[in-house]
Amino acid sequence: MRVLLAASECAPFVKTGGLADVVSALPKALAGEGVEARVLLPGYPAVMAALSDGTRVAGDLVAGRAAGLDLLALDVPALFDRPGNPYLGPDRHDWPDNALRFGTLSRVAARIATDGAGDWHPDLLHVHDWQTGLAPAYLRFAGSRIPSVLTIHNIAFQGLFGREMLGPLGLPEAEFHAESLEFWGSLGFLKAGLVHADRITTVSPTYARELQTPAFGMGLEGVIARRRAEVTGILNGAETEVWDPEADPHLPEPYGAKRPKGKAAARAAALARFALDDRPGPLFCLVSRLTAQKGIDLLLAALPRLLARGASLAILGSGDAAEEAAVRAAAAAHPGAVGAVIGYDEPLSHLLIAGADAILIPSRFEPCGLTQLYGLRYGTLPVVARTGGLADTVIDANAAAMVQGVATGFEFTPGSAAALGDAIDRACDLHADPPAWAALRRRAMGHPVGWERSAAAYAALYRGLVRGAP
Ligand code: ADP
Repeated sequence: MRVLLAASECAPFVKTGGLADVVSALPKALAGEGVEARVLLPGYPAVMAALSDGTRVAGDLVAGRAAGLDLLALDVPALFDRPGNPYLGPDRHDWPDNALRFGTLSRVAARIATDGAGDWHPDLLHVHDWQTGLAPAYLRFAGSRIPSVLTIHNIAFQGLFGREMLGPLGLPEAEFHAESLEFWGSLGFLKAGLVHADRITTVSPTYARELQTPAFGMGLEGVIARRRAEVTGILNGAETEVWDPEADPHLPEPYGAKRPKGKAAARAAALARFALDDRPGPLFCLVSRLTAQKGIDLLLAALPRLLARGASLAILGSGDAAEEAAVRAAAAAHPGAVGAVIGYDEPLSHLLIAGADAILIPSRFEPCGLTQLYGLRYGTLPVVARTGGLADTVIDANAAAMVQGVATGFEFTPGSAAALGDAIDRACDLHADPPAWAALRRRAMGHPVGWERSAAAYAALYRGLVRGAP
Protein backbone atom coordinates (compact mmCIF):
# COMPACT_ATOMS: atom_id res chain seq x y z
CA MET A 1 0.00 0.00 0.00
CA ARG A 2 1.22 3.50 -0.83
CA VAL A 3 0.41 6.43 1.41
CA LEU A 4 1.09 10.10 0.85
CA LEU A 5 1.70 12.00 4.07
CA ALA A 6 1.42 15.77 3.81
CA ALA A 7 2.59 18.12 6.54
CA SER A 8 4.17 21.49 7.20
CA GLU A 9 7.06 20.23 9.32
CA CYS A 10 9.30 17.21 9.47
CA ALA A 11 12.42 16.57 11.55
CA PRO A 12 15.31 17.02 10.97
CA PHE A 13 14.57 19.61 8.26
CA VAL A 14 12.11 21.92 9.98
CA LYS A 15 10.61 21.54 13.42
CA THR A 16 8.62 23.67 15.82
CA GLY A 17 7.10 20.85 17.86
CA GLY A 18 6.12 17.21 18.18
CA LEU A 19 4.38 17.23 14.78
CA ALA A 20 7.79 17.27 13.10
CA ASP A 21 8.93 14.25 15.11
CA VAL A 22 5.81 12.28 14.20
CA VAL A 23 5.99 13.08 10.49
CA SER A 24 9.62 11.96 10.50
CA ALA A 25 9.15 8.78 12.53
CA LEU A 26 5.85 7.45 11.21
CA PRO A 27 6.96 6.68 7.62
CA LYS A 28 9.94 4.67 8.86
CA ALA A 29 7.75 2.74 11.29
CA LEU A 30 5.13 2.14 8.56
CA ALA A 31 7.75 0.50 6.35
CA GLY A 32 7.76 -2.37 8.86
CA GLU A 33 4.02 -2.74 8.22
CA GLY A 34 4.41 -3.02 4.47
CA VAL A 35 3.24 0.57 3.90
CA GLU A 36 5.28 2.65 1.45
CA ALA A 37 4.97 6.24 2.61
CA ARG A 38 6.13 9.45 0.96
CA VAL A 39 6.07 12.80 2.67
CA LEU A 40 5.01 16.00 0.91
CA LEU A 41 6.62 19.06 2.48
CA PRO A 42 6.83 22.72 1.57
CA GLY A 43 10.07 23.47 -0.26
CA TYR A 44 11.63 25.44 2.59
CA PRO A 45 15.34 26.18 2.14
CA ALA A 46 16.34 23.26 4.41
CA VAL A 47 14.14 20.84 2.46
CA MET A 48 15.39 22.00 -0.95
CA ALA A 49 18.98 21.76 0.26
CA ALA A 50 18.42 18.17 1.42
CA LEU A 51 16.99 17.33 -2.03
CA SER A 52 19.70 19.08 -4.05
CA ASP A 53 20.23 15.92 -6.10
CA GLY A 54 16.53 15.03 -6.23
CA THR A 55 14.47 14.52 -9.39
CA ARG A 56 11.96 17.03 -10.73
CA VAL A 57 8.74 15.01 -11.19
CA ALA A 58 6.50 17.98 -12.01
CA GLY A 59 6.93 21.69 -12.60
CA ASP A 60 6.51 22.37 -8.89
CA LEU A 61 7.62 19.04 -7.36
CA VAL A 62 11.02 17.60 -6.54
CA ALA A 63 11.30 14.00 -5.31
CA GLY A 64 14.22 12.50 -3.47
CA ARG A 65 15.49 10.65 -0.45
CA ALA A 66 16.93 12.35 2.62
CA ALA A 67 17.34 11.41 6.29
CA GLY A 68 15.84 7.99 5.62
CA LEU A 69 12.65 9.44 4.13
CA ASP A 70 11.13 9.52 0.66
CA LEU A 71 10.24 13.16 0.20
CA LEU A 72 8.29 15.28 -2.23
CA ALA A 73 9.06 18.98 -1.96
CA LEU A 74 6.63 21.59 -3.18
CA ASP A 75 9.06 23.88 -4.92
CA VAL A 76 7.33 27.26 -5.05
CA PRO A 77 10.03 29.72 -3.97
CA ALA A 78 7.60 32.66 -3.77
CA LEU A 79 5.77 30.80 -0.99
CA PHE A 80 8.43 28.82 0.81
CA ASP A 81 11.91 30.12 0.09
CA ARG A 82 12.11 32.03 3.38
CA PRO A 83 14.48 31.59 6.28
CA GLY A 84 13.60 30.79 9.87
CA ASN A 85 10.33 29.65 11.39
CA PRO A 86 7.87 28.04 8.95
CA TYR A 87 4.91 30.09 10.16
CA LEU A 88 6.31 33.38 11.46
CA GLY A 89 8.20 36.20 9.84
CA PRO A 90 11.17 37.94 11.46
CA ASP A 91 8.68 40.19 13.32
CA ARG A 92 7.35 37.02 15.06
CA HIS A 93 3.94 37.53 13.44
CA ASP A 94 2.31 35.02 11.09
CA TRP A 95 3.41 35.43 7.49
CA PRO A 96 0.57 37.44 5.90
CA ASP A 97 0.18 34.90 3.10
CA ASN A 98 -0.09 31.77 5.26
CA ALA A 99 -3.53 30.98 3.83
CA LEU A 100 -2.08 30.90 0.34
CA ARG A 101 1.08 29.04 1.43
CA PHE A 102 -0.67 26.20 3.21
CA GLY A 103 -3.79 26.27 1.05
CA THR A 104 -1.49 25.62 -1.90
CA LEU A 105 0.23 22.83 0.01
CA SER A 106 -3.17 21.24 0.67
CA ARG A 107 -4.24 21.65 -2.93
CA VAL A 108 -1.09 20.00 -4.24
CA ALA A 109 -1.48 17.15 -1.72
CA ALA A 110 -4.95 16.48 -3.14
CA ARG A 111 -3.60 16.74 -6.69
CA ILE A 112 -0.87 14.16 -6.01
CA ALA A 113 -3.41 11.88 -4.32
CA THR A 114 -5.53 11.86 -7.47
CA ASP A 115 -2.98 12.25 -10.28
CA GLY A 116 0.20 10.89 -8.69
CA ALA A 117 3.70 12.33 -8.67
CA GLY A 118 5.67 11.08 -11.66
CA ASP A 119 4.85 7.38 -11.80
CA TRP A 120 4.07 7.12 -8.08
CA HIS A 121 0.37 6.85 -7.24
CA PRO A 122 -0.76 6.76 -3.61
CA ASP A 123 -3.70 4.70 -2.37
CA LEU A 124 -4.46 7.06 0.51
CA LEU A 125 -3.75 10.60 1.71
CA HIS A 126 -2.85 11.20 5.36
CA VAL A 127 -2.76 14.88 6.36
CA HIS A 128 -1.68 16.51 9.60
CA ASP A 129 -3.09 19.56 11.38
CA TRP A 130 -4.59 22.70 9.87
CA GLN A 131 -1.79 23.35 7.39
CA THR A 132 -2.94 20.41 5.27
CA GLY A 133 -6.53 20.36 6.53
CA LEU A 134 -8.00 21.62 3.26
CA ALA A 135 -6.67 18.64 1.30
CA PRO A 136 -9.57 16.28 2.16
CA ALA A 137 -11.98 19.04 1.09
CA TYR A 138 -10.21 19.45 -2.27
CA LEU A 139 -10.41 15.67 -2.77
CA ARG A 140 -14.11 15.66 -1.98
CA PHE A 141 -14.90 18.64 -4.26
CA ALA A 142 -12.98 16.97 -7.10
CA GLY A 143 -15.05 13.81 -6.67
CA SER A 144 -11.91 11.80 -5.95
CA ARG A 145 -12.26 8.30 -4.54
CA ILE A 146 -8.87 8.37 -2.78
CA PRO A 147 -9.57 8.04 0.96
CA SER A 148 -8.15 10.58 3.39
CA VAL A 149 -7.16 10.60 7.05
CA LEU A 150 -6.68 13.76 9.11
CA THR A 151 -4.61 13.66 12.29
CA ILE A 152 -5.09 16.38 14.91
CA HIS A 153 -1.82 17.04 16.71
CA ASN A 154 -3.08 20.12 18.54
CA ILE A 155 -6.55 21.61 18.20
CA ALA A 156 -5.30 24.97 19.48
CA PHE A 157 -4.03 25.70 15.97
CA GLN A 158 -6.99 25.82 13.57
CA GLY A 159 -5.94 27.86 10.54
CA LEU A 160 -8.68 30.50 10.42
CA PHE A 161 -8.65 32.95 7.51
CA GLY A 162 -10.93 35.39 5.75
CA ARG A 163 -13.68 34.28 3.40
CA GLU A 164 -12.01 36.28 0.63
CA MET A 165 -9.40 33.49 0.38
CA LEU A 166 -11.95 31.13 -1.21
CA GLY A 167 -11.34 32.57 -4.68
CA PRO A 168 -7.51 32.59 -4.61
CA LEU A 169 -7.57 29.00 -3.28
CA GLY A 170 -10.02 27.79 -5.91
CA LEU A 171 -12.64 26.77 -3.34
CA PRO A 172 -16.36 26.89 -4.19
CA GLU A 173 -18.31 29.77 -2.61
CA ALA A 174 -21.22 27.36 -2.20
CA GLU A 175 -19.16 25.35 0.31
CA PHE A 176 -18.85 28.31 2.65
CA HIS A 177 -21.30 27.16 5.31
CA ALA A 178 -21.14 25.58 8.74
CA GLU A 179 -21.37 22.00 7.41
CA SER A 180 -18.27 22.45 5.26
CA LEU A 181 -15.59 25.16 5.15
CA GLU A 182 -16.96 27.82 7.48
CA PHE A 183 -16.05 28.24 11.12
CA TRP A 184 -18.07 31.14 12.59
CA GLY A 185 -17.61 33.47 9.63
CA SER A 186 -14.04 32.40 8.86
CA LEU A 187 -12.56 29.92 6.42
CA GLY A 188 -11.41 27.10 8.73
CA PHE A 189 -8.67 24.86 7.37
CA LEU A 190 -8.84 22.35 10.21
CA LYS A 191 -12.61 22.49 10.27
CA ALA A 192 -12.67 21.63 6.56
CA GLY A 193 -10.52 18.57 7.20
CA LEU A 194 -12.65 17.48 10.15
CA VAL A 195 -15.75 17.56 7.97
CA HIS A 196 -14.32 16.05 4.79
CA ALA A 197 -11.68 13.50 5.83
CA ASP A 198 -12.84 9.89 5.82
CA ARG A 199 -11.29 9.29 9.23
CA ILE A 200 -10.06 11.55 12.00
CA THR A 201 -7.30 10.52 14.32
CA THR A 202 -5.59 12.23 17.17
CA VAL A 203 -2.48 11.34 19.06
CA SER A 204 -3.87 9.66 22.17
CA PRO A 205 -7.08 7.89 23.19
CA THR A 206 -7.67 10.30 26.07
CA TYR A 207 -7.29 13.38 23.82
CA ALA A 208 -9.71 11.76 21.36
CA ARG A 209 -12.32 11.77 24.12
CA GLU A 210 -11.37 15.17 25.50
CA LEU A 211 -11.68 16.78 22.05
CA GLN A 212 -15.38 15.99 22.06
CA THR A 213 -15.92 18.21 25.11
CA PRO A 214 -16.14 22.02 25.34
CA ALA A 215 -13.23 22.15 27.80
CA PHE A 216 -10.80 20.84 25.17
CA GLY A 217 -12.45 21.08 21.74
CA MET A 218 -11.87 24.82 21.33
CA GLY A 219 -15.15 25.27 19.49
CA LEU A 220 -14.73 22.20 17.29
CA GLU A 221 -16.06 19.70 19.87
CA GLY A 222 -19.43 19.48 18.15
CA VAL A 223 -17.94 18.73 14.72
CA ILE A 224 -15.75 16.03 16.21
CA ALA A 225 -18.44 14.55 18.46
CA ARG A 226 -20.77 14.19 15.49
CA ARG A 227 -18.13 12.00 13.84
CA ARG A 228 -17.23 10.07 16.97
CA ALA A 229 -17.57 6.70 15.23
CA GLU A 230 -14.78 7.76 12.85
CA VAL A 231 -12.46 9.25 15.47
CA THR A 232 -9.54 7.20 16.79
CA GLY A 233 -6.75 7.98 19.23
CA ILE A 234 -3.37 6.48 18.31
CA LEU A 235 -0.44 7.30 20.58
CA ASN A 236 2.75 8.78 19.23
CA GLY A 237 5.93 6.88 19.87
CA ALA A 238 9.45 8.03 20.60
CA GLU A 239 12.14 7.55 18.00
CA THR A 240 14.01 4.92 19.93
CA GLU A 241 17.13 5.06 17.73
CA VAL A 242 17.50 8.77 18.46
CA TRP A 243 16.40 8.51 22.09
CA ASP A 244 18.50 5.63 23.37
CA PRO A 245 20.61 6.12 26.51
CA GLU A 246 22.76 3.14 25.47
CA ALA A 247 23.85 4.88 22.27
CA ASP A 248 23.29 8.61 22.72
CA PRO A 249 26.19 10.69 21.39
CA HIS A 250 25.15 13.65 23.54
CA LEU A 251 25.87 11.88 26.85
CA PRO A 252 29.24 11.67 28.60
CA GLU A 253 28.86 7.88 28.76
CA PRO A 254 26.16 5.41 27.77
CA TYR A 255 23.87 3.86 30.35
CA GLY A 256 20.91 1.52 30.58
CA ALA A 257 18.63 -0.21 33.04
CA LYS A 258 21.33 -2.80 33.73
CA ARG A 259 24.21 -0.33 33.92
CA PRO A 260 22.89 2.86 35.50
CA LYS A 261 26.31 4.35 36.34
CA GLY A 262 26.40 6.58 33.25
CA LYS A 263 23.26 8.35 34.42
CA ALA A 264 25.23 9.83 37.32
CA ALA A 265 27.81 11.15 34.84
CA ALA A 266 25.03 12.77 32.81
CA ARG A 267 23.60 14.29 36.01
CA ALA A 268 26.95 15.84 36.88
CA ALA A 269 27.30 17.24 33.37
CA ALA A 270 23.76 18.64 33.43
CA LEU A 271 24.34 20.29 36.80
CA ALA A 272 27.43 21.95 35.40
CA ARG A 273 25.67 23.14 32.21
CA PHE A 274 22.84 24.69 34.25
CA ALA A 275 25.16 26.08 36.97
CA LEU A 276 23.40 24.09 39.67
CA ASP A 277 24.64 22.87 43.03
CA ASP A 278 24.42 19.18 43.87
CA ARG A 279 21.48 19.38 46.28
CA PRO A 280 20.18 16.37 48.24
CA GLY A 281 16.74 16.23 46.59
CA PRO A 282 15.97 15.16 43.04
CA LEU A 283 16.98 17.19 40.00
CA PHE A 284 13.77 18.01 38.14
CA CYS A 285 13.85 19.17 34.55
CA LEU A 286 11.48 20.70 32.04
CA VAL A 287 12.14 20.66 28.28
CA SER A 288 9.36 22.47 26.52
CA ARG A 289 7.95 25.26 24.48
CA LEU A 290 7.30 28.00 27.01
CA THR A 291 3.64 28.80 26.41
CA ALA A 292 0.43 28.94 28.43
CA GLN A 293 -0.44 25.39 27.28
CA LYS A 294 2.59 23.96 29.02
CA GLY A 295 1.64 25.15 32.53
CA ILE A 296 4.91 26.97 33.20
CA ASP A 297 3.02 29.30 35.57
CA LEU A 298 1.84 26.30 37.60
CA LEU A 299 5.40 25.11 37.93
CA LEU A 300 6.70 28.50 39.01
CA ALA A 301 3.86 28.74 41.55
CA ALA A 302 4.84 25.33 42.95
CA LEU A 303 8.55 26.20 42.97
CA PRO A 304 8.76 27.12 46.69
CA ARG A 305 7.56 23.62 47.60
CA LEU A 306 10.11 22.03 45.28
CA LEU A 307 12.94 24.08 46.73
CA ALA A 308 11.80 23.43 50.31
CA ARG A 309 12.47 19.74 49.67
CA GLY A 310 16.09 20.34 48.74
CA ALA A 311 15.32 19.61 45.09
CA SER A 312 16.61 21.55 42.10
CA LEU A 313 15.14 22.50 38.74
CA ALA A 314 16.66 22.90 35.28
CA ILE A 315 14.56 24.41 32.49
CA LEU A 316 15.35 24.26 28.78
CA GLY A 317 12.82 26.05 26.66
CA SER A 318 11.82 28.90 24.44
CA GLY A 319 8.55 30.52 23.49
CA ASP A 320 6.42 33.43 24.65
CA ALA A 321 8.25 36.48 25.93
CA ALA A 322 6.33 36.59 29.24
CA GLU A 323 7.03 32.94 30.04
CA GLU A 324 10.69 33.27 29.05
CA ALA A 325 11.04 36.29 31.34
CA ALA A 326 9.36 34.47 34.24
CA VAL A 327 11.70 31.50 33.86
CA ARG A 328 14.76 33.75 33.70
CA ALA A 329 13.59 35.57 36.82
CA ALA A 330 13.11 32.30 38.73
CA ALA A 331 16.65 31.22 37.84
CA ALA A 332 18.05 34.60 38.87
CA ALA A 333 16.17 34.46 42.19
CA HIS A 334 17.49 31.00 43.11
CA PRO A 335 21.08 30.68 41.93
CA GLY A 336 22.42 27.16 42.29
CA ALA A 337 18.93 25.71 42.75
CA VAL A 338 17.11 26.79 39.57
CA GLY A 339 18.89 26.93 36.22
CA ALA A 340 17.52 27.96 32.84
CA VAL A 341 18.69 27.89 29.27
CA ILE A 342 16.38 29.87 27.00
CA GLY A 343 16.65 28.54 23.50
CA TYR A 344 16.12 25.47 21.38
CA ASP A 345 18.97 23.01 21.81
CA GLU A 346 18.53 19.40 20.73
CA PRO A 347 21.85 18.05 22.14
CA LEU A 348 21.29 19.80 25.46
CA SER A 349 17.77 18.35 25.65
CA HIS A 350 19.31 14.87 25.50
CA LEU A 351 21.86 15.64 28.20
CA LEU A 352 19.29 17.24 30.49
CA ILE A 353 16.70 14.49 30.12
CA ALA A 354 19.42 11.90 30.79
CA GLY A 355 20.90 13.77 33.73
CA ALA A 356 17.72 14.73 35.57
CA ASP A 357 16.04 12.44 38.09
CA ALA A 358 12.53 13.46 37.06
CA ILE A 359 10.89 15.38 34.22
CA LEU A 360 7.99 17.75 34.84
CA ILE A 361 5.13 18.10 32.34
CA PRO A 362 2.41 20.23 33.96
CA SER A 363 0.52 20.90 30.69
CA ARG A 364 -3.03 22.28 30.81
CA PHE A 365 -3.75 20.02 27.85
CA GLU A 366 -1.40 17.69 26.03
CA PRO A 367 -2.53 15.83 22.90
CA CYS A 368 0.20 13.22 23.34
CA GLY A 369 3.46 14.70 24.59
CA LEU A 370 6.83 13.24 23.75
CA THR A 371 9.14 14.25 26.56
CA GLN A 372 7.46 11.94 29.07
CA LEU A 373 8.29 9.08 26.68
CA TYR A 374 11.92 10.18 26.56
CA GLY A 375 11.84 10.43 30.36
CA LEU A 376 10.58 6.86 30.67
CA ARG A 377 13.27 5.56 28.33
CA TYR A 378 16.02 7.47 30.12
CA GLY A 379 14.88 6.49 33.63
CA THR A 380 13.93 10.10 34.35
CA LEU A 381 10.61 9.68 36.08
CA PRO A 382 7.78 11.72 34.55
CA VAL A 383 5.67 13.96 36.80
CA VAL A 384 2.70 14.79 34.60
CA ALA A 385 -0.73 16.38 34.54
CA ARG A 386 -3.38 13.68 34.10
CA THR A 387 -4.56 14.85 30.70
CA GLY A 388 -4.38 13.70 27.08
CA GLY A 389 -1.51 11.46 26.14
CA LEU A 390 0.19 12.06 29.47
CA ALA A 391 -2.64 10.13 31.15
CA ASP A 392 -2.26 7.33 28.60
CA THR A 393 1.50 6.82 28.91
CA VAL A 394 2.38 7.26 32.60
CA ILE A 395 1.17 4.99 35.39
CA ASP A 396 0.91 6.88 38.67
CA ALA A 397 2.89 5.59 41.63
CA ASN A 398 -0.16 5.36 43.88
CA ALA A 399 -0.34 2.70 46.57
CA ALA A 400 -2.15 0.16 44.40
CA ALA A 401 0.19 0.57 41.42
CA MET A 402 3.21 0.30 43.71
CA VAL A 403 1.91 -2.94 45.24
CA GLN A 404 1.24 -4.30 41.74
CA GLY A 405 4.67 -3.15 40.60
CA VAL A 406 3.36 -1.34 37.54
CA ALA A 407 3.96 2.35 38.33
CA THR A 408 6.21 4.41 36.04
CA GLY A 409 5.85 7.99 37.29
CA PHE A 410 3.60 10.52 39.00
CA GLU A 411 0.33 12.03 37.83
CA PHE A 412 -1.61 14.94 39.25
CA THR A 413 -5.09 16.30 38.81
CA PRO A 414 -6.64 18.87 38.75
CA GLY A 415 -4.23 21.06 36.80
CA SER A 416 -3.35 23.34 39.71
CA ALA A 417 -0.16 24.45 41.42
CA ALA A 418 -1.38 22.75 44.61
CA ALA A 419 -1.87 19.37 42.92
CA LEU A 420 1.46 19.71 41.11
CA GLY A 421 3.11 20.54 44.44
CA ASP A 422 1.61 17.38 45.95
CA ALA A 423 3.01 15.28 43.10
CA ILE A 424 6.44 16.90 43.52
CA ASP A 425 6.23 16.04 47.23
CA ARG A 426 5.42 12.42 46.44
CA ALA A 427 8.35 12.26 44.03
CA CYS A 428 10.67 13.72 46.67
CA ASP A 429 9.39 11.21 49.27
CA LEU A 430 10.14 8.32 46.95
CA HIS A 431 13.51 9.75 45.96
CA ALA A 432 14.46 9.69 49.63
CA ASP A 433 14.06 5.89 49.49
CA PRO A 434 16.80 4.94 46.99
CA PRO A 435 15.86 1.27 46.46
CA ALA A 436 12.22 2.21 45.81
CA TRP A 437 13.30 4.98 43.41
CA ALA A 438 15.66 2.62 41.59
CA ALA A 439 12.89 0.04 41.21
CA LEU A 440 10.52 2.61 39.73
CA ARG A 441 13.25 3.81 37.41
CA ARG A 442 13.98 0.30 36.16
CA ARG A 443 10.30 -0.23 35.46
CA ALA A 444 9.99 3.08 33.63
CA MET A 445 12.96 2.16 31.44
CA GLY A 446 11.26 -1.08 30.48
CA HIS A 447 8.01 0.61 29.45
CA PRO A 448 7.52 0.31 25.66
CA VAL A 449 7.67 3.78 24.09
CA GLY A 450 8.53 2.95 20.46
CA TRP A 451 6.43 3.29 17.34
CA GLU A 452 5.72 -0.40 16.67
CA ARG A 453 2.22 -0.64 18.11
CA SER A 454 1.12 2.70 16.77
CA ALA A 455 2.43 2.02 13.28
CA ALA A 456 0.42 -1.21 13.27
CA ALA A 457 -2.68 0.76 14.33
CA TYR A 458 -2.23 3.31 11.51
CA ALA A 459 -1.63 0.53 8.99
CA ALA A 460 -4.81 -1.23 10.12
CA LEU A 461 -6.74 2.03 9.79
CA TYR A 462 -5.38 2.57 6.26
CA ARG A 463 -6.21 -1.00 5.27
CA GLY A 464 -9.78 -0.53 6.43
CA LEU A 465 -10.08 2.38 3.99
CA VAL A 466 -8.13 0.95 1.06
CA ARG A 467 -9.62 -2.40 0.33
CA GLY A 468 -7.70 -4.55 -2.10
CA ALA A 469 -4.42 -2.59 -1.87
CA PRO A 470 -1.30 -4.74 -1.50
P1 ADP B 1 4.70 20.16 21.48
O1 ADP B 1 4.57 19.51 20.14
O2 ADP B 1 3.40 20.67 22.03
O3 ADP B 1 5.76 21.21 21.51
P2 ADP B 1 5.72 17.57 22.38
O4 ADP B 1 6.09 17.08 23.74
O5 ADP B 1 4.79 16.73 21.59
O6 ADP B 1 5.16 19.06 22.56
O7 ADP B 1 7.04 17.75 21.50
C1 ADP B 1 8.03 18.68 21.82
C2 ADP B 1 9.32 18.26 21.16
O8 ADP B 1 10.19 19.38 21.08
C3 ADP B 1 10.08 17.21 21.93
O9 ADP B 1 10.82 16.43 21.01
C4 ADP B 1 10.99 18.04 22.82
O10 ADP B 1 12.13 17.34 23.22
C5 ADP B 1 11.34 19.17 21.87
N1 ADP B 1 11.68 20.43 22.53
C6 ADP B 1 10.83 21.34 23.05
N2 ADP B 1 11.50 22.42 23.50
C7 ADP B 1 12.80 22.19 23.26
C8 ADP B 1 14.02 22.94 23.48
N3 ADP B 1 13.99 24.14 24.04
N4 ADP B 1 15.19 22.40 23.08
C9 ADP B 1 15.21 21.18 22.50
N5 ADP B 1 14.12 20.43 22.28
C10 ADP B 1 12.93 20.93 22.63
